[in-house]
Amino acid sequence: MAVLVLGGAGYIGSHTVYELIEAGRDVVVADNLLTGFRAAVHPKARFYELDIRDGAALDRLFKEEEIEGVIHFAASSQVGESMVKPLKYYDNNLWGTCSLLESMVRNGVNKIVFSSTAATYGLPERVPILESDRTEPINPYGETKLAMEKMMRWLDKASGLRYVALRYFNACGAHPTGLIGEAHNPETHLIPIILQVPNGQREYIGIFGDDYKTKDGTCVRDYIHVSDLAQAHILALDYLLAGNKSDVFNLGNGIGFTNKEVVECARKVTGHPIPEKILERRPGDPDMLVASSEKAKSILGWKPKYADLETIISSAWRWHKNHPHGYEVE
Ligand code: UDP
Repeated sequence: MAVLVLGGAGYIGSHTVYELIEAGRDVVVADNLLTGFRAAVHPKARFYELDIRDGAALDRLFKEEEIEGVIHFAASSQVGESMVKPLKYYDNNLWGTCSLLESMVRNGVNKIVFSSTAATYGLPERVPILESDRTEPINPYGETKLAMEKMMRWLDKASGLRYVALRYFNACGAHPTGLIGEAHNPETHLIPIILQVPNGQREYIGIFGDDYKTKDGTCVRDYIHVSDLAQAHILALDYLLAGNKSDVFNLGNGIGFTNKEVVECARKVTGHPIPEKILERRPGDPDMLVASSEKAKSILGWKPKYADLETIISSAWRWHKNHPHGYEVE
């Protein structure tokens, strides 16, 4: 039996495929390659180029392969873009997941691990955030991810779907081999953008706002290494395959860093002065997002290996220094 990874050519998906294959699993990847890269897919995974909104293509895949469970990363994932193009998020994320779940039901596959987000919480009522805290998203990205969770919850009651939603905080870093890493076009995430400065692609890092209610006025985020996230997906899949019930888990390190602290750490790692400029706030950004991941640790047995920000940024730097244009031909 194989594991189907949807969005397995994307950043977190490709790292999860590597971890699955290193753990000896049989892996099938499906991706529409709109934001993912064929070169990011592990050579031992069987690859299907398809869009999850195409139910007939999914049905064909489920008939050709024997799938024991699905890991679902195939979604649009940028907060800023979602504020400008909300309908793109409803179409790709909500309708895409609806089409996927319909095909899973038709083909008798009923286990799914799904990438959700800290953006489901909106403005947190306290930090660190617990899974049971209020969810009131403040951007369409978080809104659609929360709706995807709810869609699965109702389908669990209606037809016995078993799901795990993993609410990640800020994914970062790259695979220790340096073979795969973060590559978005255009790039919007803080750490890869900072590293464009020492890579000679940008003169300074623009920090979005310094009037938030935090210790230095810049936003606070909880950074978690992509390989640790990948491990959590495998643990969650095995938890479902062992017959356990549907659930939701946060994944973060439980430590918050301000945007300025992240820039300072990148200066230390790269030895470059990395000039900074304070810019306007970016719409849709909460002041502070820090996870409590105790539930994932106690129920899934998750143990993050890369808790330290310097180690995380060093792994990202190794990838970006050697692949300044991501997966594109250099
Ligand atoms: N950020 C920034 N400059 C950039 C990109 C991001 O100041 O060029 C900030 C952003 O406003 C947020 C933090 O960095 O406060 C993390 O943003 P990112 O897009 O990496 O992740 P998100 O928290 O939105 O998932």
